[in-house]
Amino acid sequence: MKPRLEHALQALGENRSVEDILAVLADYPVCKEQPCLRMGCSRVCEWQASGGRPKLFCSESCRRRQLRERETLQGELAELESCLTQADTVRRRQTIETQMANVRWQLARYPVATLG
Ligand SMILES: [Zn+2]
Repeated sequence: MKPRLEHALQALGENRSVEDILAVLADYPVCKEQPCLRMGCSRVCEWQASGGRPKLFCSESCRRRQLRERETLQGELAELESCLTQADTVRRRQTIETQMANVRWQLARYPVATLG
């Protein structure tokens, strides 16, 4: 079995040459497609071999929908947080905090996707 790219590059040692690095890279074709980042979408985004900004979503509508869903959850979280100040008992506060934890749990599925 072929070693992982990371290990193949490490195996070249500290004095590895650019030629050695390129020879290793030639054995590891780039990933050609990744799933669309919108939850529930089963389409893929293809790697732009010709350059340009790689797509994170299969379509503009998927990108907008994901953003809108994330903003909705963020809005719910902010509103719940402002409601916390009105909770006059521990039990009522816990009810709101439980709801907030649930929204945070949902939000974890909507990371801010960026390409560095
Ligand atoms: Zn999509």
